[in-house]
Amino acid sequence: MTVRQSGSIYELAAYAADAALGRGRRHPEPPVVGRSDYQRDRDRIIHSTAFRRLEYKTQVFINTEGDLYRTRLTHSLEVAQIARSIARRLRINEDLTEAVCLAHDLGHTPFGHAGQDTLNECMRDHGGFEHNLQSLRVVDELEERYAGFDGLNLCFETRESILKHCSAENARKLGDVAQRFLSRQRPLLEAQVANLADQIAYNNHDMDDGLRSGLINLQQACTVPLFKQYFDEVQTTYPGLSDRRCIHETVRRLMNALIVDLIEETQRRIDAAQPASMDDVRQAPPLVAFSEPMHELNSALKKFLHTELYRHPTVLRTTFKAQKVVRELFGVFMQDKRLLPVQFAQKAMDNHARAVADYIAGMTDRFAIREHQRLLGFDEW
Ligand code: MG
Repeated sequence: MTVRQSGSIYELAAYAADAALGRGRRHPEPPVVGRSDYQRDRDRIIHSTAFRRLEYKTQVFINTEGDLYRTRLTHSLEVAQIARSIARRLRINEDLTEAVCLAHDLGHTPFGHAGQDTLNECMRDHGGFEHNLQSLRVVDELEERYAGFDGLNLCFETRESILKHCSAENARKLGDVAQRFLSRQRPLLEAQVANLADQIAYNNHDMDDGLRSGLINLQQACTVPLFKQYFDEVQTTYPGLSDRRCIHETVRRLMNALIVDLIEETQRRIDAAQPASMDDVRQAPPLVAFSEPMHELNSALKKFLHTELYRHPTVLRTTFKAQKVVRELFGVFMQDKRLLPVQFAQKAMDNHARAVADYIAGMTDRFAIREHQRLLGFDEW
């Protein structure tokens, strides 16, 4: 197996993404000294407007509900942290992995999934709305930072990896960046790692935030086998430990168990498939995965969060209000495009509904609430 030397402190494996062998940028740019192409992609994402907005976008709890809950920004940072440690261990491209993680939620609407589902409903007759597709749209078209082009002009592999799912219909419209959805190929390992790091991050931080908020209690959490196993371990090792420290020690162990299992199972699969290039990875079966027993345990944790936290009456009440705000804002802007800010009103000349969706999707939670108050004149919050 050939091993290439990267700019990083570890050697990239042959199956790692390598910008030198990649398909480059849509608008060719000269290389710079001292930073790899994927490092530059990551830096462009961090400096984008959409990235800063993540600070005020909901993960599960609305930003105004408390200062200590995860937001899309802290979520994205946690995903990147988890994915980078996995990437190093597997000797895949850490810079690309990090760029994909930091960009993966850029297209999220205000109010989390409630916002996305409502906007998708509103857009039903206009091509729909999908937050993952919107993340690509943000980096390809919506960011206005360069003189020569729209978007951030990221490398092909970064753009391809941001696009996690895509319908065949949309894939045909998007062309080469979505080709793999038509030819049924796998994403690069860096994208596969980002995807599972996303799951590890939200399962654990939602459990942590859920317990902190009091919407779920320790007794309920202990019905989840994976949580109970580490909770008992912590209780035995540190009898009389405060709940707060105990929760942290438990979640820390839980997260570590998932990460270690993922690395071991993935390495096993890589050893069996022997991919020797990025293209081999695309042809191989999915390589980044939990072991079967851990997959089961993780599914139980996910299911618990779905029933006990995401469908908790307090969360559902906020969801209800969020849906109303998004739906009514969409209605108002569809009624009269002159109410849109100038740059979106201009875009609305070409495609009214898409310009409205882009405007609403870009809003932070609090901006959407304020805009709703300004236009509809009553205080829902
Ligand atoms: Mg995410």
